[in-house]
Amino acid sequence: MAGDRPTLLLSVDFEDWHQLVRRRVGVSGWEEPGPALARQTDALLALLDELHARATFFVLGMAARAHPQLLGPIVAAGHEIGCHGDAHRLVNTQTPDEFAADLRSAKATIEQLTGRTPVGYRAPAFSITRATPWAREVLADEGFAYDASQHDSPALRDRVAPTDLGPHLTDTGLWEFPVAVWRVGQARLPVGGASYWLLLPTPLLLTGLQNAGPLAGLYLHPNELDPEPLRARLPTSATAKQSALARLREIQRNGARRRAPATLKAIARRFELIPYGEAHARLDGGA
Ligand SMILES: [Zn+2]
Repeated sequence: MAGDRPTLLLSVDFEDWHQLVRRRVGVSGWEEPGPALARQTDALLALLDELHARATFFVLGMAARAHPQLLGPIVAAGHEIGCHGDAHRLVNTQTPDEFAADLRSAKATIEQLTGRTPVGYRAPAFSITRATPWAREVLADEGFAYDASQHDSPALRDRVAPTDLGPHLTDTGLWEFPVAVWRVGQARLPVGGASYWLLLPTPLLLTGLQNAGPLAGLYLHPNELDPEPLRARLPTSATAKQSALARLREIQRNGARRRAPATLKAIARRFELIPYGEAHARLDGGA
């Protein structure tokens, strides 16, 4: 515990940007390990170490299989291992059985590579929506204790309106930990994700986080901490259109990348940052 600083929950959606962008633009061999995740992970672990902050790494199964050597250092640094699913397929495009199968694949990979059984889950692109009223039940059936997918961001159509701004126990027995959102009148400003940190001056962002409710969640991606500009490396068989699409995504991501480390440092000066599992233990233990 660190003095009187308010507490936020810190997470990393641990995925390989190259796998996702290659699949998105439709090139073959997209599942091959990308060239940047190792250096991104090094930079991220160094920054968290410097800030004396531990985080929850919501690990994507397919990224872990492509980079099995990266998991050990994350565990050794004391970070919590959570689950980001296996194939980064949106929950609201799956049936309950497909969702359960994706969770099982991810869990098997994560357990094999880390020796840890994840009890926390973050949906790809916050895709637990009004179309998936069964999702939490599947998570509870598959042994998860908490979900960190609720995000009241106007960018997410079909999102579930939050019943509670802070962490809350749902009727499935699963805890829900919402992402930080600053509510100003009717407006909703997403302040929890590094991809949004570009949009607000840092003092205003800190005010937003201060007002986001108790134990609000932050999320980062490894590519946002990349010390080098992201370059979408595609196979030589890629078409001009595929290259152009990848370039566009590269430009979008590089914007967020430039601000993220300094912003996270500013946040860490103002707030205590802890992993989700620690908050879950405090709440569920009745502490
Ligand atoms: Zn993701």
